[in-house]
Amino acid sequence: MRATQLYAPTLREFPAEAELISHKLMMKAGLIRKAAGGIYSYLPLGWRTIRKIEKIIREEMDAEGGQEIMMPITQPAELWKESGRWAVYGPEMMKLEDRHGREFALGPTHEEMITSLIRSEVKSYKQLPLMLYQIQNKYRDEIRPRFGLMRSREFIMKDLYSFDKDIDGMNVSYDKMYNAYSRIFTRCGLKFRPVEADNGAIGGGHSHEFTVLAPNGESSIAYCESCNYAASDEKAELKVITAEAEEMKPLEKVSTPNCHTIEMVKDYLQVPIEKTIKAVAFQDDDGRLILAFVRGDHEVNEIKILNAVEGALHLHMAEDSAISAAGGCAGFMSPIGIKDDTAIVVDSTVMEMYNAVAGANEVDVHYINVTPKRDFDAKKIIVTDIRMVKEGDPCPHCGKALKMTRGIEVGQVFTLGNKYSKALNATFLDENGKEKYFEMGCYGIGVGRTAAAAIEQNNDEHGIIWPRAIAPFEVVVVPVNAKNAAQLEYSEKIYEELKAAGIDTILDDRKDRAGVKFNDCDLIGYPIRITISPKTIDENTIEVKIRKTGEVYTFNRDEYKDKVCELLKDL
Ligand code: ATP
Ligand code: MG
Repeated sequence: MRATQLYAPTLREFPAEAELISHKLMMKAGLIRKAAGGIYSYLPLGWRTIRKIEKIIREEMDAEGGQEIMMPITQPAELWKESGRWAVYGPEMMKLEDRHGREFALGPTHEEMITSLIRSEVKSYKQLPLMLYQIQNKYRDEIRPRFGLMRSREFIMKDLYSFDKDIDGMNVSYDKMYNAYSRIFTRCGLKFRPVEADNGAIGGGHSHEFTVLAPNGESSIAYCESCNYAASDEKAELKVITAEAEEMKPLEKVSTPNCHTIEMVKDYLQVPIEKTIKAVAFQDDDGRLILAFVRGDHEVNEIKILNAVEGALHLHMAEDSAISAAGGCAGFMSPIGIKDDTAIVVDSTVMEMYNAVAGANEVDVHYINVTPKRDFDAKKIIVTDIRMVKEGDPCPHCGKALKMTRGIEVGQVFTLGNKYSKALNATFLDENGKEKYFEMGCYGIGVGRTAAAAIEQNNDEHGIIWPRAIAPFEVVVVPVNAKNAAQLEYSEKIYEELKAAGIDTILDDRKDRAGVKFNDCDLIGYPIRITISPKTIDENTIEVKIRKTGEVYTFNRDEYKDKVCELLKDL
């Protein structure tokens, strides 16, 4: 490729709306352009990177026995109704109607589609295991599309689905994918960490997220340095914190005028925050009230609450009217005196407290001396871990203090068990002629998000610093003055030699000033720049600059190709 023919419209400035550096740089370097909120075109340089990531993914999926297919993006509503997800997926699903009024969704994911494909064709255990994948656009009407390709509404995903005859087989498929994902992100040149994850709405068994470590990432991870435990903050299990036993004093109401936050209550009553119980009120999609209680200094974990309350799919902040109807009082709440049909979830640590402060379900009134194991009606409450991990919490495996860091979820692997095969009645005959449900797994990688994450991790004030494996080009050859015929001719030769050696090379044959071209090369982030000047031509040497380190090497004409190949290996 020659730069004079390349469509790479670089910008002078960062676009105003871009917040993340990866988004800013992708726009400025001319990799993507916005069509609508969260919907982008990929320009040649951006697309080359996407294609390289896809190639790595394909190689690793195929190496584990994956077979590539392509399913439709337009999915009939009936399939989603059969699985029950049409009603529960929520407003993220983009829906449309055809001219006959039949409903469709633009695929946000393909469990239903692939299960229906398999159920009509695969009938025997002899046809298993099966791993099928595709790389395709997915559609999710994200509530806050932002950060460019990081969270878009139309995005490229690789999704693989595994079908096995039993749980053991499913776990083998899971391990294969876990290992393949580790190789993919390593080959992409990323610093990442697989972390234990919640299964989310997708349901099923266990799961890991592959998280690229980055301070601006949307995911928060808890990890332990001494035993290697790592989990997303949503998932991180927490041990119960026991309090020293105290004599249980009698429950008593006290006036707490205007103290409707835990901070106000603790200041007003002069008690440590660890002696207070905090309430958070939600309603689910059906309007059912869900009250959650944690220690005053703890935060609730909504995912854990959803997992604890059967049938709850999404949480919304509760309306005051719903709270009053249940016998509660917003800002002054405890489980004591709440009506029976309310879902009350109490964090396990709360049940260990003695003589604490909690709301009295009356305006401006709190209870003191609340001892939950005595005062809460055990039959009416769900007791479990519902709190959010924080730095310093004990590791659930070894007890050492957990650390927190941030990252970008680039991929996730799940075991699904027979959740979808059962819902869609997808069965096969086992060795004994018995009908069984498939044991499934699903495995996704965000291709565009992986590219964005690579930039988040690899950039400086001049621009992108691509890891070699996913750079749009590995080497750029720049004649300092392309108007000079000798320089241009010499550069062409080097360009041809490198291409012949299998190196993905671009020739910057633009007649612009050298400084302009160098800036663009740095912005776009080619891993190696070769500069051709009158001096190097005279000396018959080749000047090689490494984008990442700024190091400059001068090689002899007869050895430079080998040297460049060697240098690329480490980039
Ligand atoms: P998130 O929690 O970030 O919304 P998710 O857990 O819903 O993502 P999955 O269903 O696990 O996403 O999808 C698999 C992969 O697809 C994710 O790991 C991520 O890399 C990518 N992905 C998901 N949503 C988006 C999006 N809106 N834009 C770009 N990539 C996405
Ligand atoms: Mg996910």
